[in-house]
Amino acid sequence: MAHEMAERLDQDMFDVYSQVQTFARLDPYVAESSAREAKRRQWMADLQRSFPRYAWIGFARPDGIIEASTGKMLEGQSVAERPWFKAALKGPFAGDLHEALLLNRLLRPDGGEPLRFVDVAAPIYDTRGTLVGVIGVHLYWSWAEQMRKALLVPQRIFPGTDIRVLDGTGRVLLGPNIGEAMDHLPAVQAALRGETGARRETVESSEWLVGYDSANGYRDYPGLGWRVLTMTPMEIAYAPIREIERGLLLLGTIAALIGSGISYLVARRLTAPLNRLAEDARRSSDRPETAFLSRSGGSREVVRLSQALRALVRRIGTYEQDLATVSAEASALAEHNSVLKEMAQTDPLTGLLNRRGFFEAVEARFVGKPQTDLSVLVLDIDRFKAINDTHGHGVGDTVIQAVARLCRQQCREGDLVARFGGEEFVLLLPGCPGPAAVAFAGRLRQRIADQRIETQTSPIGVTVSIGVAWGQDISEGLNEAIDRADRALYRAKVNGRNRVEARLPSPAA
Ligand code: GH3
Ligand code: MG
Ligand code: MG
Repeated sequence: MAHEMAERLDQDMFDVYSQVQTFARLDPYVAESSAREAKRRQWMADLQRSFPRYAWIGFARPDGIIEASTGKMLEGQSVAERPWFKAALKGPFAGDLHEALLLNRLLRPDGGEPLRFVDVAAPIYDTRGTLVGVIGVHLYWSWAEQMRKALLVPQRIFPGTDIRVLDGTGRVLLGPNIGEAMDHLPAVQAALRGETGARRETVESSEWLVGYDSANGYRDYPGLGWRVLTMTPMEIAYAPIREIERGLLLLGTIAALIGSGISYLVARRLTAPLNRLAEDARRSSDRPETAFLSRSGGSREVVRLSQALRALVRRIGTYEQDLATVSAEASALAEHNSVLKEMAQTDPLTGLLNRRGFFEAVEARFVGKPQTDLSVLVLDIDRFKAINDTHGHGVGDTVIQAVARLCRQQCREGDLVARFGGEEFVLLLPGCPGPAAVAFAGRLRQRIADQRIETQTSPIGVTVSIGVAWGQDISEGLNEAIDRADRALYRAKVNGRNRVEARLPSPAA
């Protein structure tokens, strides 16, 4: 708007400037006439009628005396000292606003506010090029005021907007507070530097948006250095932007609400089947016997997830059943194993330990636990072959069982009694020193000899021979001790049977 105002000012001033010059160029054609004063007056009157903004038009002779003018005003008076006259003697002139001096009384007989004019003037030469006078024009400043008002029509501008025209020093020429210096405003300083733009300014403690531009003349009209300011209260200038901002905010809020609504629905559509799936899986894991997951519906992903989970749960169910079978089989096997182990360690005829069971029992009980006073007895039934031969193998077995029973009965808890083979037994007596073992062997031999063994046919009696060995420490080797006991047994056999022989460790050992 400042730009438009500046342009219009320049345009109108240019019109006046060129009209005055046209007038000056045409004047020589009347200058020769004897009725030139009347003709000039006529022209001036015509011009003023066409352009009511002209307050006064006059022709001054080179000496400054007004010879002809509109309404014959100031005719015969001198304008020799007036700036417009003096400047126009040299060439076309446009003069800045001033208060009417001589014309005020004539044009405003009722007094009131003094009139203000802008002056435009030009020299007039005759056909030979001699200066014949000066034409001067006074322009009503109300012309600019009307222009300002025309621009400030409410439909075209923000309410509260004002236009001011300043002179080349920053003083107000047009607008409220005429004569006020505004060059303290940065916007005015920028305008005075010739810049164009808009700034935020604080004027009388309120915020304004100030637009500014310069009227720099048009074509040969050089301009008067006027600056145009437009001022709009900040809140009004930014109101449309605020409105757009509010609109955007509202739009954004609505979009956010719709968006979150949609995402809530999507999330529910997505999470509801997932929750059902999770609940199903939890219930299924509570009851291990039902490894089953119901089929769930929902999005394609949920269906796929459900299918995958169902497959997984089915497989887990299968594995669980397999595991139950395997562990049942394993415990049956373990039981079986222990039976087998016992069988492997036991002599089936007598229920005593066999050779293998004997050594395993020794290992389990004594290895890593040094034993003192450990005695070994090797016992063999005398002339057993004869019993077999006489009474038969069955009776032989019964005899073996009877001897075994007696051995077991005579032993203490913790003693090991084993049938090593045939009718030969090995007894291990922990915590029993050699002499005690020999005494024990004697008692055992006696008991067996006293026993009448009931058989399928008739009761029979048997005797045994026993070899005793005694080791202070088992670490010397159990096999070695058994060997010594066996040698003692041999001596018992050689020495007549039904007797006990002992072999104590050699002093060297
Ligand atoms: P000795 O006084 O020298 O020991 O004479 P013996 O007849 O006992 O001689 P030997 O120890 O050599 O003979 C053992 C016999 O025992 C030989 C075998 O036929 C018999 N025999 C071995 N095992 C069994 C068995 O489990 N049952 C029966 N009935 N006889 C067996
Ligand atoms: Mg034998
Ligand atoms: Mg024998």
